[in-house]
Amino acid sequence: MDQKKVIIADAINEKGISDLEEVAEVIVDTQITPEELVKSIKDFDAIVVRSRTKVTREVIEAAPKLKIIARAGVGVDNVDVQAATERGIMVINAPESTSITVAEHAMGLMLSLSRKIAIADKSVKEGKWEKSRFMGMELNNKTLGIVGMGRIGSQVVIRAKSFGMDIMVYDPYISQEAAAEMGVAVADLETVLKEADVITIHVPLTPETKHSISYDQFEIMKESAFIINCARGGIINEDALYEALTQNKIGGAALDVFENEPPEGSPLLDLDNIVVTPHIGASTAEAQIDAALIVANEIITVFKGGSPKNVLNMPVLDPKTFQVMKPYIKLSEKLGSFVAQGTPGNIKELDVTYCGELAEIPKQDILTRTILQGILNPILTEPVNLVNAPSIAHNRGIVVTESKRSECDGYKSIIMVTVKSEEGEFKIEGAYTKEPKIIKINGYWVDVKPEGTMVIARYQDLPGTIGAIGTKLGEHFINIATMQVGRREVGGEAVMVLKVDQKVPQAVIEDVIKLDNVEDAVALDL
Ligand code: NAD
Repeated sequence: MDQKKVIIADAINEKGISDLEEVAEVIVDTQITPEELVKSIKDFDAIVVRSRTKVTREVIEAAPKLKIIARAGVGVDNVDVQAATERGIMVINAPESTSITVAEHAMGLMLSLSRKIAIADKSVKEGKWEKSRFMGMELNNKTLGIVGMGRIGSQVVIRAKSFGMDIMVYDPYISQEAAAEMGVAVADLETVLKEADVITIHVPLTPETKHSISYDQFEIMKESAFIINCARGGIINEDALYEALTQNKIGGAALDVFENEPPEGSPLLDLDNIVVTPHIGASTAEAQIDAALIVANEIITVFKGGSPKNVLNMPVLDPKTFQVMKPYIKLSEKLGSFVAQGTPGNIKELDVTYCGELAEIPKQDILTRTILQGILNPILTEPVNLVNAPSIAHNRGIVVTESKRSECDGYKSIIMVTVKSEEGEFKIEGAYTKEPKIIKINGYWVDVKPEGTMVIARYQDLPGTIGAIGTKLGEHFINIATMQVGRREVGGEAVMVLKVDQKVPQAVIEDVIKLDNVEDAVALDL
């Protein structure tokens, strides 16, 4: 085997470097300029960066030998992942390196709030001795509400239990088994917010979580409740938080992250019942050591021909298979996103059945992975990709099966996706004829381009029902662009697909469901 060469372009912990030196020639140049990097990258098989060095398309295109770009940390904003993918270069990171560190920070903030440590510290340093002002609250026997039980949330569970806290979790995407294994109670968001003495947020910032803690949510919290956010700014509406803290709707808050960082001029900074830190949740020496060791180990695995765990981009397909699959990749993405939004409850099983040309490819696996990517990406912090989608699904308790069928209803190929959740089953089928399209929903034939905003309603095919749904949307100023109906028999169950021009709020969907003869409805944004 040729001697591999690795460049360490940003300072990482020595332990990671010495591990790499056992298998490769390692050049450490943590002052390297962008121009120098473009010139010298041609000799390297791997590059390790943190956030200083930008691995741009220019760098990647000047790197014929490069196989791995490793980020000793989590975010890969400084790496052109698209350019790397096009060149078949793996981009790896160390997402688990900061979980314990951030969880400990959340615990620190929790204690700071419950025992008023930060404000008492300030007072003593000002020469005061205000013992009676700082009456605290024990964490023992209190209820901790955790919003989001992923890597960090789970570490908080372990730590909070040792403080004698009862734990209640809101995370609609974890399985009952995962919750039972962690020994936590699962509840809806409202219940968690109502019952918790301390609330801690550990979800990604997504359109769904943005301002998910706002005026209405503060209204239902206990007057004594503490809330902590070391996830991302923007999940808590800071104007609503200011109102809650100044009008004593809650007891206090702690923030490591802000809508604008630094939060210059924020009125929150003038309040005594808030503890703030400058986005240092992940900043410990141990997290950095871990990140260095994790990426070093991943690079060594690749050099030895193994499969690394944390690859962020897709594997390279052989050109012939790629040609057959290409049209179905977009369709698969859309099918994943469709079922993710169309299925009530937490998805437990995914079956993908291929028929026609696609069934003849020995490994359709990549399309199943694309569907999984569509299902998982909206709910997770780390980018889910074709490499890591199956292991993430497995860890989240989703059982994935693939099957083949010969009969293909006259299409070249069909992809049939069936998902099961605790609340039922949802089935769609898609095909490709000049463009991707959905051809069946829950067994009813349709012909729908999977794009834009739509409302899918299941109803009894009785006179007046279609009109009533249209009128209800009209009352909410939702304009219908096109409508399709799929039914098996007159007067039986039918499915309606409405393409609409505006986003449809959940409250409108709930109004549609209340109409006579409507069984259920859902809004999708593809
Ligand atoms: P993760 O992907 O492992 O877990 C996120 C969890 O949130 C998942 O279990 C998911 O099911 C759940 N979730 C998604 N949408 C949800 C919703 N609408 N409601 C409830 N639950 C939902 O992520 P992680 O590594 O645990 O990171 C959690 C957060 O911490 C992220 O926002 C991340 O950016 C942040 N973070 C902050 C720092 C810091 O310096 N303060 C450092 C690292 C990570």
